[in-house]
Amino acid sequence: MTTHKKNEEYEIVITDIGTEGEGIGHLDDGYTLFVQGGLPGDKVLAHIIKAQKKYAIAKLVKVISASSDRGEAPCPLAGRCGGCQIMELKYEAQLKYKANKVCELLTRVGGFEPEYISGIYEGIIGCDTGEKENETPVRFRNKAQYPVGKDREGNVITGFYAPHSHRIVACEDCLIGAAGDAKILKAIREFMDKHDISAYDENTHKGLIRHILIRTGYKTGEIQVCLIINGKSIPHAEELTDKLNGLSFDGEAKIVSICTSKNTEETNVIMGDEYSVLYGTGYITDMIGDLSFHISPLSFYQVNPYQTDKLYKKALEYAALTGSETVWDLYCGIGTISLFLARAAGKVYGVEVVPQAIEDARENARINRIDNADFFTGKAEEVLPAFYADATSSPEALHPDVIVVDPPRKGCDSACLETMLKMQPERIVYVSCDPATLARDLKFLCEGGSYELKKVVNVDMFGGSLHVETVVSLVRK
Ligand code: SAH
Repeated sequence: MTTHKKNEEYEIVITDIGTEGEGIGHLDDGYTLFVQGGLPGDKVLAHIIKAQKKYAIAKLVKVISASSDRGEAPCPLAGRCGGCQIMELKYEAQLKYKANKVCELLTRVGGFEPEYISGIYEGIIGCDTGEKENETPVRFRNKAQYPVGKDREGNVITGFYAPHSHRIVACEDCLIGAAGDAKILKAIREFMDKHDISAYDENTHKGLIRHILIRTGYKTGEIQVCLIINGKSIPHAEELTDKLNGLSFDGEAKIVSICTSKNTEETNVIMGDEYSVLYGTGYITDMIGDLSFHISPLSFYQVNPYQTDKLYKKALEYAALTGSETVWDLYCGIGTISLFLARAAGKVYGVEVVPQAIEDARENARINRIDNADFFTGKAEEVLPAFYADATSSPEALHPDVIVVDPPRKGCDSACLETMLKMQPERIVYVSCDPATLARDLKFLCEGGSYELKKVVNVDMFGGSLHVETVVSLVRK
């Protein structure tokens, strides 16, 4: 393989998509080019901007012949803001790409035979795109966390970080987000400009307003605004809450909660550890199916209300409950999956590390009149082993019928997986937002020979992006 140099230009066919959404192609000698904006099937002219021994980063000069999968991105910022990496791909092709990715990881990382995976793979459940057939769905996210900064002229801007950076790309109306966000952000920007309230600067660690979190209950119209601040309070806060309360939204939508969360750490973590209420309640209420949920700002809640139903139905189907079972729901958040399980089982135990989410979960059990769910605060990898080692634990809980896990992207800790194996549930349902760590964990769970991978399905919660949600069913042999 020859090494190539900066400023060289090549015609190249894009064959794959990289982890950040960049197009990947290979020159005849095997040398790899990463071309931002290139899509599989495109033939492009690429200009090398940074060359390494085996690969280079290249700029897309022009698309010579477009892939048949190339479509129209509904958003003018597609590819510029770091949010949606593959919006220019037709929706069908996005789904196909994600499905292939998951199957490929299950074979390459998970060690399962490709034929075996294709035999048990149930496909990918896409979002309904309405009349815009084959276009990325829009207005499906119920939550966004907008970073706040200043432009060169010193005006307050809100938007998203550009790919690979913390430079804010101003975005006045995110098309995949809730329709009301734009008005709220504009009102906050105007308020900050009027009172000369500073935006947080990551380099100097100075400035007050870091992020704005907006979450909308799509079923109820309830909106929560939470300002994440590098300080104790916001000057003229009452004027801000009045201004926000004066806004009107489409349909029934209305702000019911305005909060602040103090985060004075030099960190990429967005939220602080606590929040204070400036106006209204500390939570919004939303519904999934016929269950109601209180959601406070620090709690996780599935971001795509149109797909959550479908996701949970699959998890419930794989749990195959008949009414009497004992179930653990690890990484349970505000108890959403737990409460659906509880209605179909004898007893459910939920485990979650964020204390405020457990408070929400207990409250959610109460408002839905469900009394067979108990919740534990702590890390799954600590709570579960401690529970297993405790001689006073009930035998049913020690050997549950089903364990459901829904961990964050890093997957399950090995101490958690080891204890799950010791507990020998009949079924394990793994809900995952990262197929690479899912594949790693499935390998671990199946390696001993006591569990068999029975079913795999994908649900597309994140149209336009590379992210994909997977649900799998494991059954004890
Ligand atoms: N099942 C829930 C939440 C899934 S998101 C739902 O569908 O809404 C993953 C959750 O795991 C988050 O609530 C996060 O706070 C929690 N979490 C992260 N690390 C954890 C750990 N080590 N132990 C337990 N919970 C954890």
